[in-house]
Amino acid sequence: FLSLPLQAKMSRPVQARRLEGIDKNIWVDFVKLAGTYAKVNLGQGFPDFPVPDFLLEALRQALGGNHMLHQYTRAFGHPPLVNVLGQLFGKLLGRELDPMSNVMVTVGAYQALFCCFQAFVDEGDEVIIIEPFFDCYMPMVKMAGGTPVFVPLRPNAPKDGSLMSSADWQLDPAELASKFSERTKAIVVNSPNNPLGKVFSQGELELIAELCVKHDILCISDEVYEWLVYDGRQHIRIASLPGMWDRTVIIGSAGKTFSATGWKVGWTVGPDRLMRHLRTVHQNSIYHCATIGQEAVAQGFQRELTLYGKPDSYFVQLPRELQRKRDMLVQSLVAVGMKPIIPEGTYFLVADISEFKSEVPDVPDSDEPYDYIFTKWMMKNKGLAAIPLSAFFSETSGKNHTNFIRFCFAKEEATLKAAIDILQKWKEEKTS
Ligand code: PMP
Repeated sequence: FLSLPLQAKMSRPVQARRLEGIDKNIWVDFVKLAGTYAKVNLGQGFPDFPVPDFLLEALRQALGGNHMLHQYTRAFGHPPLVNVLGQLFGKLLGRELDPMSNVMVTVGAYQALFCCFQAFVDEGDEVIIIEPFFDCYMPMVKMAGGTPVFVPLRPNAPKDGSLMSSADWQLDPAELASKFSERTKAIVVNSPNNPLGKVFSQGELELIAELCVKHDILCISDEVYEWLVYDGRQHIRIASLPGMWDRTVIIGSAGKTFSATGWKVGWTVGPDRLMRHLRTVHQNSIYHCATIGQEAVAQGFQRELTLYGKPDSYFVQLPRELQRKRDMLVQSLVAVGMKPIIPEGTYFLVADISEFKSEVPDVPDSDEPYDYIFTKWMMKNKGLAAIPLSAFFSETSGKNHTNFIRFCFAKEEATLKAAIDILQKWKEEKTS
């Protein structure tokens, strides 16, 4: 043994097959670029304003109170949190929930998604994903051995030339139906949708639900932006439609709900016959989520349950504030010549940048799509960061959607004003 050279390197392949083709991640590149060049970052999707006072206070109380909150709690969810989630979702869904079997706490919605794909998807199973989509669905399906099958939301520009809304991006019912087959195991529905901000209508959800029931298919319903809907719209829970409770897992996130993305507290809600398999993945992977954050989030929900529907509720105040910020950003984007697609929900806004082709110099020998080139150019030359929209499509469809970028408007007034100043100066340069 001692005669072996010290530098002896491993030569066998180390990477498991399940990692093949899923190693790229747009966030790594763009976060780095934004850090180097951007004065104002509206790319990454999280708030830069403080968490609400009541949540901070709940965390302070948890930190200084019962010392057992620094120890493990129940593996599938801290009892106060699953209890309050059971009460709230019971009320929202109009059914009695057992917090111990119908609710499970996860490390953010991300782990909830991971649990679903690992628990339900076998080698060869197909999972329908509606495009554009939150980018992790595809690699997670593949890692579980499944095959993603994509179906697009298709844009229909209003005939009168007015700005498009996220509602103008719709599924073609025949195209959607054509994707269901005996190989389909599940569909992922994300309403309100990241990146478009689309809030699926009752009719659209009924169409999906009918197909799920007809083909006996599971629904993974990512509802992390459930409280962020604007202009008086309603978020409809697909699990509340006929035949859907039994086949749906609802996914939520305290990160989005209480503007505390770094806490990574998420949850799943569903029937025990599905939840028991999520518990198996959970107990054989992370097993347990940080207790202290769960305790504070439980207190936050307790407050919201008491204030439900009242003007002081965070679930009323946050969307009102974000709608105002959405409208500020829309105005400035229009002034500079971008065509924003007005989001009905979430804190994202997609804008059409096709009018800027002549402003952005060609990059010789680049095989990057226009939206990537534009975003990098905007960061370097204007100091403003966004994210190219084609990153939210499969490789094939991404090639047809290179004229859009995504902004996040969950930002402090000062951050948004700084972005608006950049856009204003840009407009003046263009007109001078
Ligand atoms: N789903 C969607 C649609 C999201 O946008 C995000 C976060 N950007 C997540 C899930 C993950 O949420 P969390 O931070 O709670 O893991």
